[in-house]
Amino acid sequence: MSKTFYKNLYQQSLGIVGGGQLGRMMAHRASLLGFVVRVYSDATNSPASVFANEELVGSYFDAQAINNFAKKNTFTTTEFENISTKNLDSTISPLPSAIFECQNRIREKSLAKSLGIKTPIFAEVLTKDDAVKFFNQNGKFILKTTELGYDGKGQYKILSLKDIETVEFNAPYIAEQFVDFELEFSVVLTRGEDGLIVFYPSAINQHKNGILDISIVKKDFNLTPAVQRAREYAALIAKTLAYKGTMAVEFFLNKDKSVVFNEIAPRPHNSGHYTMDMCNVCQFENHIRAVCNLPLITPALLFEGKMLNLIGPQSLELLNRYAASSKAKIHLYSKAEVKEGRKLGHINIID
Ligand code: AMP
Repeated sequence: MSKTFYKNLYQQSLGIVGGGQLGRMMAHRASLLGFVVRVYSDATNSPASVFANEELVGSYFDAQAINNFAKKNTFTTTEFENISTKNLDSTISPLPSAIFECQNRIREKSLAKSLGIKTPIFAEVLTKDDAVKFFNQNGKFILKTTELGYDGKGQYKILSLKDIETVEFNAPYIAEQFVDFELEFSVVLTRGEDGLIVFYPSAINQHKNGILDISIVKKDFNLTPAVQRAREYAALIAKTLAYKGTMAVEFFLNKDKSVVFNEIAPRPHNSGHYTMDMCNVCQFENHIRAVCNLPLITPALLFEGKMLNLIGPQSLELLNRYAASSKAKIHLYSKAEVKEGRKLGHINIID
């Protein structure tokens, strides 16, 4: 007899911790799947609240409040990793212990290294002397805050000893040897409650000022040994974290064709936004399916194409360029403010 996934036809509820665009796209898919959606956000009228039945406002660092929120829902997930994981309820998916591993760049790189996955040479840097020592031993490097950094924030490119002078050593940093890569790509996968993993086709990612700018999706790239190896690495990480849901692992493809780990996103990821219009199932739907113990759908690429991020006020021009194109699918996030460097939406363009 086939497995029973739905116990009845009554409404179930999904709670989403985080009110940003990822929560918004999750909430939209979840509502199509028939869930009552609740969002926990640190501000009212969050982008996710547009597709939610209810929005609760509280701090991301108040584990007790998040646990109380989780108790209201049949299932609860997160769209945001910078939350308090200490004393957080383990009914939340992905597991708080998995989120914890990904909150700190030294922790996640140490995890990858311990699994035999190649990482850039890295070290903790607390002082100027530490940074000078790292430069003298390893040459050019990128200095990143170990926690709370995203979209290139809190990062310095150190190409000479002089560049160290510009750094304010007011937070713990990680120094990562500069990787002179051929390209960047990511593996987006979903792991279900039974441990089954499905992979999305990998996009080649181009960044501008440390922020994802364009993801290019080609069938051929996915046939390369680099993608196959990266999938094995990402699956190993997901299994080790007992992960449930969609996650992304970002990699560099080195000029010598080796695959180098960069970071883990314990949630759906910007480089998987193309799946909304180019795959048979999007990264958000499989995430919800995993979190709600429903069967996963194996992703298939229906169209090749690219995803362009709409970042900051200057993206208005890009938006207008594609506004009338039948090949362009526009997604805007209802952000309350248009700020420099802020992700406001994306456009999926089918080849
Ligand atoms: P991250 O926040 O770690 O994803 O870094 C943002 C972007 O900075 C990456 O997508 C790369 O384009 C660049 N970057 C980060 N780490 C390195 C590195 N070790 N070597 C060269 N470029 C890097």
